[in-house]
Amino acid sequence: MAKLYFRYGAMNSGKSTALLQAAFNYEERGQHVLLAKPEIDTKGADQISSRLGVARRVDFLIAPDADVRALVAEHAAGIGGNVACLLIDEAQFLHPRQVDDLLRIVVDDGIPVLAYGIRTDFQTRAFPGSARLLELAHSLEELKTICRCGRKALFNARLVGGRFVFDGDQVAIDELSHEKVTYESMCAECYLRESGGRLH
Ligand SMILES: [Zn+2]
Repeated sequence: MAKLYFRYGAMNSGKSTALLQAAFNYEERGQHVLLAKPEIDTKGADQISSRLGVARRVDFLIAPDADVRALVAEHAAGIGGNVACLLIDEAQFLHPRQVDDLLRIVVDDGIPVLAYGIRTDFQTRAFPGSARLLELAHSLEELKTICRCGRKALFNARLVGGRFVFDGDQVAIDELSHEKVTYESMCAECYLRESGGRLH
């Protein structure tokens, strides 16, 4: 029976690497997979890239108002209708309605869906797509990464120009006021120390 899987973690927990490995495992057995990601993620445009250096182009990008089920049907037709699995990177950026689509793809179309994404934003709030995935997925799996102190990282602190910031828009992938935006995966203890006790 097909299932909806949500594999989530903090940033730098190897989600893209795990996704590309899963795709490889299917293809090694001669099966076809479809790779997709939301269009909002400008980082790498139409590529899924692992920090280990492996990169691969997605089969399609998902626009914010796109019907994911229709996109899958269209691209499945292109490979003879035989889709062993749909793999989605950066799933936190999906609209909740699109996550509903994923469940229908699993249940009504019988295609397993593996969605990979970040659970919470830099203010410790769930991304809309991740919140819906946590509600609907048959299977939840946490991909772990380590904080600077050695504990398991839970949150994603934002740095602008190398300094921690705790206010701003939910999505700021590239440049913000000409200074570089980066993120550090942190445990709750380190996050609260840097934020001065703030959680949002
Ligand atoms: Zn820590």
